[in-house]
Amino acid sequence: MNPALKRRSIAVLLFLIAPFAATVHAWGDLGHRIVAELAWRQLDPAARAEVSRLLKADGDDSLPDIASWPDRLRDMPGKEDLGKATGPLHYVDIRDDKCHYVPPRDCADGRCVVGGLEKYVAVLGDRHRSDAERAEALKFVVHFVGDVHQPLHAGNRDDKGGNEYQVQFDGKGTNLHRVWDSQMLYTRDLKWQAYADRLAAEGPVKLPRTNASESPYAQWAEESCDIVATNGFYPATHRIDDAYVAKQLPVAETRLREAAKRLADLLNKTLD
Ligand SMILES: [Zn+2]
Repeated sequence: MNPALKRRSIAVLLFLIAPFAATVHAWGDLGHRIVAELAWRQLDPAARAEVSRLLKADGDDSLPDIASWPDRLRDMPGKEDLGKATGPLHYVDIRDDKCHYVPPRDCADGRCVVGGLEKYVAVLGDRHRSDAERAEALKFVVHFVGDVHQPLHAGNRDDKGGNEYQVQFDGKGTNLHRVWDSQMLYTRDLKWQAYADRLAAEGPVKLPRTNASESPYAQWAEESCDIVATNGFYPATHRIDDAYVAKQLPVAETRLREAAKRLADLLNKTLD
């Protein structure tokens, strides 16, 4: 094939696969970094020291840097299988109109984000495990706490978390999942540090009440599901207009702040 034709074929191929490549897991890198940064600021000294030690042992620098690591596994040489095996742990489909999570139905064999959190928090807190295992668990925990707070990662519609719900945003076609993962956040036009500063300036977030008889992770998922089930979350017009962003961006930002506070509380408890 002549070089020009080859280049064009590659361009066409990239164009064809790009929309699918973009449908993967959860808050884009921006959202995950914001959650990790805000959590880091709320860690107590003992948890901070242990997080730093584990990251360093694994050759990593900071919590925001590793926050999207589980989303990158499939493209990392030698980590493809881990990426594949942990794919279902980024979300949960709650198959219930009332958003009531039922483990055997919604998380068979622990293969959902609630099960992923249970598994990796246990590994992280187990001092008999190697640093490498615990560092890996830390990366999953940081990521999954973010994911479970992205409403469309725990919805109750049969549409792959809004990936199959096409919408128009800024005159372009996209889907509702991408709008919530990243596109709404981009409208602030802030880098992650500045975005974290902006959210931190809002002061401490008031966490929704949870009850002690059910797994906290399950309740975070049910909160996400309740948000997805509110009127207007799925725009009937399939159009993301200014009114939609004005109403829903603060909801997304509250979820980021809640995720950060809960991640900090979880790490403070697990690593002290
Ligand atoms: Zn994810």
